[in-house]
Amino acid sequence: MPNMNPKKTPMPEQEPNVRNKNFDEVSYGYTEEMAKNEAERCLHCKHKPCMKGCPVAVHIPDFIQQVAEGDYEGAYRTIKMTNSLPAICGRVCPQENQCEHNCVRGIKGEPVAIGRLERFVADWHMKHGKDEAEKVEPNGHKVAVVGAGPAGLTCAGDLAAMGYSVTVFEALHAAGGVLMYGIPQFRLPKEIVQREIDTLKAKGVEIKTDMVIGKVLSVDELFENGYEAVFIGTGAGLPNFMNIPGEGLVGVYSANEFLTRVNLMKAYKPDYDTPIIHPKNVAVVGGGNVAMDAARTALRLGAESVHIVYRRAEEQMPARREEIHHAKEEGVIFDLLCNPVQILGDENGKVNAIECIRMELGEPDASGRRKPIPVEGSNFKIPVDCVVMAIGNSPNPLIRSTTKGIEANSHGCIVVKDDTMETTREGVFAAGDAVSGAATVILAMGGGKEAARSIDKYIRSKK
Ligand code: FAD
Ligand code: SF4
Repeated sequence: MPNMNPKKTPMPEQEPNVRNKNFDEVSYGYTEEMAKNEAERCLHCKHKPCMKGCPVAVHIPDFIQQVAEGDYEGAYRTIKMTNSLPAICGRVCPQENQCEHNCVRGIKGEPVAIGRLERFVADWHMKHGKDEAEKVEPNGHKVAVVGAGPAGLTCAGDLAAMGYSVTVFEALHAAGGVLMYGIPQFRLPKEIVQREIDTLKAKGVEIKTDMVIGKVLSVDELFENGYEAVFIGTGAGLPNFMNIPGEGLVGVYSANEFLTRVNLMKAYKPDYDTPIIHPKNVAVVGGGNVAMDAARTALRLGAESVHIVYRRAEEQMPARREEIHHAKEEGVIFDLLCNPVQILGDENGKVNAIECIRMELGEPDASGRRKPIPVEGSNFKIPVDCVVMAIGNSPNPLIRSTTKGIEANSHGCIVVKDDTMETTREGVFAAGDAVSGAATVILAMGGGKEAARSIDKYIRSKK
């Protein structure tokens, strides 16, 4: 008999007033008992609607059945058939818009907690299982992957499994992309990302860091060096600004810079000499996951007040509901329906306030959301010593501007053929945020997988 409890089995987590002062992971994950209890809520639907909502088509009911039977290693193998980064996806995927959105248990209650179960299985494997790198016969062909984020790592892993000799070129000093330098430790512990990277290296993938393609080497030089195809997974790391007065003041950061300094350069550790202001009063501008991450990070750095400044209402916020809920619980102040007009500074050029104007919602705009309209004369100031801009990112133009034949659309995203991920230059493939603009980990992975299949087909067609 299935467990007909309409609610998900709760996942234990740190108390809000404790966790907002440390960088440890917020949620502890399920115990075996909790996982089995939750797995028993699955009805094993014949048509598997949950699977259709998963961009990499994880065999969801099958792995949940294995959890219910206590076969956790079997469940891990089932997930790994289609998802190379389960410990990461179980933590950061927006399941509420994907697999869980389609779950039939969601019609009369809460859907099965598929993400929590995926995380449980991956964590169980990390503690108890073994990663044995399969011996694959080398096929004698070389592929270069540019960018070590989820798109590049997935593409590299899949190609290595087919026998290709793969080299990943990464601009920064550590692999992982946004998983390593964007998403904070308290949501995605870096040890987990590192373990996935180590598994990939054990498969024979070579990762060269501090290699900015377009500067150190060009795409053309990669071909000259014997690589038969090039995959571009360079993400969307170019931060957008509002172009309002005061953005050049000391204490104004892009969310990218703020989070990278804290995550990758460990600014949160007292014994690390990483320059970052430990702000007292912070305004984070934006309403997406990146804004929530920056706000919650600022609290953990010891800020006394952290404001989210967002020009629409809460229902229109693009951030995951869970992130908004966690941010509120931790004490982030939400200033909704207001938009910055300028950032003010003192005589030393340091931020001391942000001036905003109140907004009201008008008719829906091109995005389908009601358009925010300024309310004349409603300006007000919030005293702050730090402003973090989290209003979106665009792909960096470096590679396209140094490589002939790679076309981009008006948003700077690389143009690819949908079914092959091949760019307008023969032998060059691309996926992830560099193609879609800022999106999600699982979509980047799905694109990386698709590209690996196409690269294999392309190279075999040339033999
Ligand atoms: P990236 O992860 O950006 O990786 C690109 C890599 O390429 C980087 O390592 C970069 O250094 C490297 N690179 C760039 N240019 C070059 C070059 N010229 N030469 C060599 N290397 C280069 N998604 C979710 O699904 N859930 C979440 O909860 C979530 N939270 C997020 C929080 C933050 C703060 C941010 C910034 C993003 C978040 N996302 C989330 C989005 C998700 O992380 C991205 O969609 C995903 O990482 C995109 O993967 P990618 O491989 O395309 O690019
Ligand atoms: Fe189980 Fe929900 Fe998938 Fe049905 S839709 S198989 S109940 S997880």
